[in-house]
Formats: sequence, C-alpha cells, structure tokens
Amino acid sequence: MRILITGITGFAGSHLAEYILANHQGVEVCGIVRWRSRMDNIRHFQDKVTLFEADLKDMTSLQDCLAAAVPDRIFHLAAQSYVPASWKYPAETFAINAIGEVNLFEALRRVGLSPRIQVAGSSEEYGRVFPHEIPMKETNPLRPLSPYAVSKVAQDLLAYQYYMSYGMPIVRTRGFNHTGPRRGEVFVTSAFARQIAEVEKGQREPVIRVGNLEAKRDFSDVRDIVRAYWLSLEKGVPGDVYNIGSGTARSIRELLDSLLSLSPAKMQVEVDPGRLRPSDVPILLADSSKFAALTGWAPTIPFERTLRDLLDYWRERV
Ligand code: NDP
Repeated sequence: MRILITGITGFAGSHLAEYILANHQGVEVCGIVRWRSRMDNIRHFQDKVTLFEADLKDMTSLQDCLAAAVPDRIFHLAAQSYVPASWKYPAETFAINAIGEVNLFEALRRVGLSPRIQVAGSSEEYGRVFPHEIPMKETNPLRPLSPYAVSKVAQDLLAYQYYMSYGMPIVRTRGFNHTGPRRGEVFVTSAFARQIAEVEKGQREPVIRVGNLEAKRDFSDVRDIVRAYWLSLEKGVPGDVYNIGSGTARSIRELLDSLLSLSPAKMQVEVDPGRLRPSDVPILLADSSKFAALTGWAPTIPFERTLRDLLDYWRERV
C-alpha cells in the first residue's frame, strides 16, 4: 500500500510518517514538499520516504505529483495552520486551506484516482460554544471565530460535498490541540517551552511573555493523534466526521505552570498584548466517544511526558 501525506514536513505530518514507518511494515510513505520547505522535521527519516514537489495553490503541480505517486490513501494535513497568522493573512489562509483542498480533489478527479482520504479538520471549527454544549460532539453547530477556523469549516464541508457529489471516500477528523516535540515555535506550548529553555541557558532575562492564559484547550500528544489519523482511514466511514481529543480541558495557565514546574530556573510571567487575539475561543473540549467506539482509540501518553519531551526538544535547540 502507498500513502501520501500532504504536510509531511510539518509537525503532525512528520510524526505521522514516523509512526507509519515504525508500525506498518510494507506501507510505502510518500509526501508532498514545496521547493523551499524546511526539512528539519523529516531529515532523520528522509531516505525512507519518497518526496514529491507540489504546492496546494497550484493544481498542475498536484496533478503531476498524484500521477507519479498513485497513492492508495492520502492524509491531507498541509495547511496554513496558525490561527494568529490567519488574522494577518486571511485570504492566503483561505487560499491554502480551502482552495488548496479543492485543487487536491480536482487534481485527483482529473488524474482519475480515488484513494481514501483523511481531511485534518480542527476543533477551532466549533468556535463559539455555550456552556451546555461542552464537551463538544460532532453534531455541535460550527460557529468559527477566526479566518483560520472559517477556512477549516470550508475544508470540512468541501470534503463532505465531494463525498456526496462524487463518492470520493473521504473521512473527516476534527483534531483538538496537540503538542509535543517539533511543535512550531509560534504555537503556545512551544512558545513557552522555548522561552524556558532560553532562560535556563542564560539567553534571555527570566521573564516568560504570554498571551491569554484563561483560554481552555483539550491537549493531546501528537503521537496519540497521528495514531488516530491512521485509524481514521482503517475504520472511519467515508463521508463521516470524528472528533479526536483527550477529553480533558486545561487552561493555558495550567499548561504554563506545568512547564515551569519542570524547570529548576526561577521565572516571572508577563502579559504581552501582542500575543492576544481579536477574539479568542474560551474553551474547546472534545467528546471523542464516537471515534473511540468505532476504533477503540484512546490517548496513552501522559500530558507530563508530552511537556517534558517538548521542553527537552527545545533544550537541545536553543
Ligand atoms: P504545521 O504548520 O506544522 O505544518 C503545515 C504543513 O503544511 C507543512 O508541511 C507545510 O509545508 C504544509 N503547507 C503549508 N502550505 C502549503 C502549500 N501551499 N502547499 C503544500 N504544503 C503546504 O501544522 P500541523 O502539523 O500542526 O497541522 C497539520 C494539520 O492539522 C493542519 O491541517 C492543521 O490545521 C490541523 N490541525 C492541527 C492541530 C494542532 O494542534 N497541531 C489541531 C487541529 C488541526 P512547508 O514545510 O512547505 O511550509
């Protein structure tokens, strides 16, 4: 079997490739890279995968890539994935996430392939939730609160429409926050871990700059999430949608305190208004029972290990 990962150079894509290489012998792993993709996340296994150059914004490049790769399954992870950047670049975010997915699906139709596809949606799609809707089920209304979230709703609904219109076997997942080693440095867990590692090495004053600490998120380890992605194409029903999350909400303050407790250094915390968002989602908490009942999936990695591994990752890099 040959699988293609869009976004293989990213955080989740690189862990997914590694998971498949380690656990599913005989599966050939291919990935899409751009001509100037950073290869840091995949360098250590690059000789075990086949890479094709393409850009989601360019259908011709996708057609060539698909015709050459002929995948049996696609994990569609590539995206402009950073919520704050979507306020600054809403059109670019929409172009990559929504139009890029149309390009991928249309390229598949033109090349005449019908692989099983997982589309990596996001808990941000739920956006504004009311207390009685928590934890969120897949049936919850989607009330997106950022350009990123709107682009992910569009991705999600386009995937549904291509399944309904053309019978493309697409499974949609709505992943809640995940973190761990290789998490991009702009994301909150890595932003904190990196600052702590820099303070430990004397590279910055002992002050951690933070944004909104009150927001609550459902954090999982990326290694648990990519195992769920694999299962979504093993057992997921085409056309259907599945929440994937730990079922525990933690405030960003709790997350920061846990990370600080892993460091011997003494640090102060300071709010940086530049890190606050125009509208933030107060709480995201998953009800993943539908996915768990179908696949038997449950997270296995304790949150403290995730944070320790993340901090160690940054300690090696600063
Ligand atoms: P990253 O930002 O780490 O990775 C994004 C990937 O997309 C990179 O490989 C990047 O390639 C690629 N990419 C971006 N633009 C294009 C383009 N125009 N053409 C081709 N490739 C492109 O994201 P994550 O790994 O964290 O997220 C993976 C997916 O999961 C995303 O769809 C995200 O929205 C979703 N998600 C993530 C969550 C999380 O907590 N991490 C939560 C819920 C959903 P390059 O190296 O060239 O930049």
